[in-house]
Amino acid sequence: MRRLPIYFLIDVSESMVGEPIEQVQEGMGSIIKDLRTDPYALETVYVSIIAFAGKAQKITPLIELYNFYPPKLPIGGGTSLGNALNFLIGELDNSLVKTTMDQKGDWKPIIFLFTDGNPTDKYEASFDRWNKHYRSKSNLVVISLGENTDTTIFMKITENVLLLKNTDPESFKKFFRWVTASIKTTSMSVSSASNDGLQLAPITNGYLSKIDLEKGINKKVDENFAVFLAKCQKTKHPYLMKYQKRLSPSEFKELAANTMDYKLVGAFPVENSYFDLCEGDNNTGTINSSGLVGFPNCPCCGNQYGFSYCACGNIMCTGEEEASRCPWCGVEARFGFGNQSFNINRTRG
Ligand SMILES: [Zn+2]
Ligand SMILES: [Zn+2]
Repeated sequence: MRRLPIYFLIDVSESMVGEPIEQVQEGMGSIIKDLRTDPYALETVYVSIIAFAGKAQKITPLIELYNFYPPKLPIGGGTSLGNALNFLIGELDNSLVKTTMDQKGDWKPIIFLFTDGNPTDKYEASFDRWNKHYRSKSNLVVISLGENTDTTIFMKITENVLLLKNTDPESFKKFFRWVTASIKTTSMSVSSASNDGLQLAPITNGYLSKIDLEKGINKKVDENFAVFLAKCQKTKHPYLMKYQKRLSPSEFKELAANTMDYKLVGAFPVENSYFDLCEGDNNTGTINSSGLVGFPNCPCCGNQYGFSYCACGNIMCTGEEEASRCPWCGVEARFGFGNQSFNINRTRG
């Protein structure tokens, strides 16, 4: 039986922390559950999951549906599309069965790439490699989760670029049903007509839209999130604090201009594998603390101040203790509350 390999290349950078990653996690579960009830899919579909942030990591090797259990997705730092694409190429080289004189190999693989941000690396070389040697041998579908990406970048590697406009749970559910339907129709088409062209399911209701190559939306990309990395003083565990950009009316009416600030979305513990998925220095610019609205408790130990800034330049949690020891630099210090604002390093996202 010829396999229909499906690869999910999932962006697990910081901005995905919280609800988006949970939605994707849940979505992966529902795709697999649904596909298992489909006789064509059950016979042909093999699934692999690759997560990428600054680096890429194989989460699940290419495996048949009935042996597949949706894994827990990690969170890492940065969005390296170049590393992700090179990693995928390595996987295609290693795990696909090629057609030879004696045997019929795998059907053309489908790759679903989910991302919510823009690459933070130099990706051009990997794009060239992809376009020259792999593009025609696979079906790549890129889906922008939310409007924070520059879709023109992805058009350089595929004609299938889609935009999931809203990232609320309902839109995510519809979207994952669409992914499932697209896999089902393609697996039926290979089984019954030996045609491994990509068969995307129709899109209804406008929650998802295909980016038109001709028109090529060249919109200015706005950075919607600021994410900060911290460590818990008590547990030494890393956590991320996520802020969403918003337009706030100016405090002074005579200044007509609105100002931008960042409102707290939440604080989320991450695994230590966060650092494995980062590449090099993950800081990108600084943001002034006066532009942040809302400060969380520590999500690891419950300490009251999740956003305490050590002189070493890192963020930690502090509580009622007399003196606090920084989990980053090990220096003990007393924390006070200054009125002065300071600049904080933000992660790449
Ligand atoms: Zn803590
Ligand atoms: Zn420190």
